[in-house]
Amino acid sequence: MNKPEIIEGLESLVNDRESFIMEEDDIFAYDKKVLKEAINLIKETTAASKFRENGCLMCKEKEKFTALSSDLDYEIYECKNCGAHIKVEVIKKIVKVSK
Ligand SMILES: [Zn+2]
Repeated sequence: MNKPEIIEGLESLVNDRESFIMEEDDIFAYDKKVLKEAINLIKETTAASKFRENGCLMCKEKEKFTALSSDLDYEIYECKNCGAHIKVEVIKKIVKVSK
């Protein structure tokens, strides 16, 4: 299963949950929120890895970026060619464990 299929499946679940929502804060509204956040996370990580491979998502510039800000989870770059702001997730993965 690829990412577009996963996103499509999650979006269909969002629509499914929507049909059950009676009140703004019920369990189905919560389910919908969780699903939407999951969709956003997948879209963000897809965009971030595309940025690293292909450069700017708007104009394909690969070299000229200014770092605007960063925190523990995200870095934001500005493309010097087209002015796009690109938010990239900082991926922290374990690469080695030793004693
Ligand atoms: Zn650009």
